[in-house]
Amino acid sequence: MDFDARLAPYAAHSSKSRGRTHIEPPAGSRSEFQRDRDRIIHSTAFRRLEYKTQVFLNHEGDLFRTRLTHSIEVAQIGRTLARSLGLNEDLVEACALAHDLGHTPFGHVGQDVLNECMKDYGGFEHNLQSLRVVDELEEHYGAFNGLNLTFETREGILKHCSLANARQLGELGRRFMDRSQPSLEAQLTDLADEIAYNNHDIDDGLRSGLLTMAQMEEVELFARHRHTVETQYPGLPGRRALYETIRLMITAMTADLVQTSAALLKEAAPKSIDDVRASPPLIRFSPQMRAETTALKRFLYANLYRHFRVNRMRVKASRIVRELFEAFLTDPVLLPNDYQVEGDPMRQARKIADYIAGMTDRYAIREHRRIFSLDHF
Ligand code: MG
Repeated sequence: MDFDARLAPYAAHSSKSRGRTHIEPPAGSRSEFQRDRDRIIHSTAFRRLEYKTQVFLNHEGDLFRTRLTHSIEVAQIGRTLARSLGLNEDLVEACALAHDLGHTPFGHVGQDVLNECMKDYGGFEHNLQSLRVVDELEEHYGAFNGLNLTFETREGILKHCSLANARQLGELGRRFMDRSQPSLEAQLTDLADEIAYNNHDIDDGLRSGLLTMAQMEEVELFARHRHTVETQYPGLPGRRALYETIRLMITAMTADLVQTSAALLKEAAPKSIDDVRASPPLIRFSPQMRAETTALKRFLYANLYRHFRVNRMRVKASRIVRELFEAFLTDPVLLPNDYQVEGDPMRQARKIADYIAGMTDRYAIREHRRIFSLDHF
């Protein structure tokens, strides 16, 4: 079956994949990247995303984004972009659904605290952890640890990486040292991620009451589209006007990205994925859109991610993660048996990081209570 028939020459072709660590026969009715996507969906780490924080704690409301719904939105936006540019939708979908698999509970604060706790033990990076999940931690198959994904999907998962860690990753880490680029599908997934969170965080921010419509008028990109909606549907009530505005913003960002990238691709005319890797980034926003999304990000950072109510959650969450880590490190006997490592402090610390990173928000809260509360035994 030819899975690559409709792809541009510079796309990632399933038939030319650099393959898997453990060689497997082809999947028959599915392309290599479809198979990767399917393995990701069936993984345990994927189901955990449902109960992991994006910005708001999982139990703060039923309608806020979680890591799971965020990942699905990234996949949706990513597939649209991929199809418009003749790129491999299946690979983009696999990368998008897997991109946050290594995320700790409680969003970014969890990763920052775990990184501090692990500073004498090799540190903690959530991108690298996502790779560790699919390469080692998932226990699903008889023949190997992890999901045995293709090189291209693993490359897309590893968005950033320190040089020290890149050196240990062989072929996969090489691009961080020679500063070459990943596939266009990986570049695209990264920007689909950005389009998704910039837009859904506005929605969640307003829904939570931490942001107000009046405040949002400061953001040019939002104000402009909001004005268009008002002109088109005068008097449209609150949420519908908001959804219309966000819809127009997503459309504007995706259209800009497709147009800018198509022009760059035309000019650079890469003939293969190898040419792509040797070129500068070819999936980009126009300078104007880049400036506007940067302004939006700055606004969200100052007014939402650092809102005092979010800060309270962050401080509390960081305490939970730090105290769990310290308790396990001091007394590894508190850990479930298969996380206990005798006589190797480095490996023990890494196992603790794996255990904590794998927790959902509510599991971490419960575990903290089980260990520290004198009212719960
Ligand atoms: Mg993300």
